[in-house]
Amino acid sequence: MANLLITNALIVPMTAVGQPFNGYVRTRDGVITAVNQGRPQQALLVEQTIDAAGCVVMPGLINAHTHLYQVLLRAVWEDLELMPWLRRIYGCARVLTPNHFYAGSLLGCLEAIGSGVTTVCEHNFLNPSPECAFETIRAIQDSRLRAVFARTIMDDGEIVPDCTKEKPEHALRHVEALLARFKNSTQVTFMTGPNTPPINTTTELLKEVRRFADDHGIGLSAHVAESHSVVEAVRQQHGKNGVVEFLQQFGIPARNSIFAHSVHVSNDEIAILKETGTSVSHNPVSNMMLGDGVAPVVEMLRQGVNVALGTDGAASNHSQDLFDTMKAASLLQKVHHHDAGVIKPYEILRMATIGGAQALGLDALCGTIEVGKRADLILVDLDRVHNQPVNDVFSQIVHCAKANDVQTVIINGEIVLRERRFTRLDDKKILAAAKVANRDLMERVSRLSF
Ligand SMILES: [Zn+2]
Repeated sequence: MANLLITNALIVPMTAVGQPFNGYVRTRDGVITAVNQGRPQQALLVEQTIDAAGCVVMPGLINAHTHLYQVLLRAVWEDLELMPWLRRIYGCARVLTPNHFYAGSLLGCLEAIGSGVTTVCEHNFLNPSPECAFETIRAIQDSRLRAVFARTIMDDGEIVPDCTKEKPEHALRHVEALLARFKNSTQVTFMTGPNTPPINTTTELLKEVRRFADDHGIGLSAHVAESHSVVEAVRQQHGKNGVVEFLQQFGIPARNSIFAHSVHVSNDEIAILKETGTSVSHNPVSNMMLGDGVAPVVEMLRQGVNVALGTDGAASNHSQDLFDTMKAASLLQKVHHHDAGVIKPYEILRMATIGGAQALGLDALCGTIEVGKRADLILVDLDRVHNQPVNDVFSQIVHCAKANDVQTVIINGEIVLRERRFTRLDDKKILAAAKVANRDLMERVSRLSF
């Protein structure tokens, strides 16, 4: 791993008080060792210098909720609401192989890195065999992305095929095996969780995952209140007004829990999120694609809830591009509230960086540019026609910049994309393998009935 000196940079540190400034960043052994204004007196002999003229240097983006393998399912089931769409997504478990997970996830990682993402939360929920999770993790490891692998569980539900419905005890033994197998990994950490309560989880599972997470000191990830239909299910089956209220009796909302979506939550439930320190992953493109509704992001931010940003899987997004997602998040709140000033670009950028790090329990490691943090950095070229002239750097990162303005990506001090070339991955080979996997998967899916 090279020691890096990044000069001539417009640094956007995303620290609580840090305004953008011109300066340089130094890294050593994967750690940020200096962030200063101006120019360094000299480069050290052991340093590799990157001239960032024309670029913003900012923390790598954090995708707080995705399903990487779903790039194989881009634009396959459209025009469906959540439940009929989920029936097909879950039904795929009958034909998905470990190789689909590897080939698809690696293509997803390639897209993520190429659009400036340095950390993902991979919310895993289809486990017809243990190898499916292993192969997803292997793809993440090969890509160099930092990741939280949230190995979640389904143990109930009419739309869940038997092959991926697990007994809680059995599934948690698998989570335990993952924790043991990767206990020395500095790249991948773990969560568990109920996948989509209550539509595919029993109350027994909710108790079990809470106990397991406490025993092992890990967090929980869940899809929460994504559509009206999920809230309706909790009303009918459990007599509760909302999913967050329902989950509260099992202690699921907590400081190390991340709730994806949280579209249909009441003000009282937002208060529960705040009191318990629960984070939310807002996934606006997916919510719009499935016609779910608009998450009360402004209300959550006003009440002090930590909100992160996610793409969700490409089956409902259709990309892994967080620049797209940042712009969508901003515009959606403006139009929803009929108020152009209701959310600030800085708040959106915070959600995509330190907000995500905090949600995933990684804020001591990444999410800002600060001495002592791991060097997860991206260089975004603002010296391009659609980004010039620069009048407001926060707004222009959110509203003007595009994924392929990302020139260089550094993860843990290692350059993984330089001048838009992958240094560690053979992108042509990954693409070819994903196409083969896609053809095979589509052929198998064509024989299914849903
Ligand atoms: Zn999801």
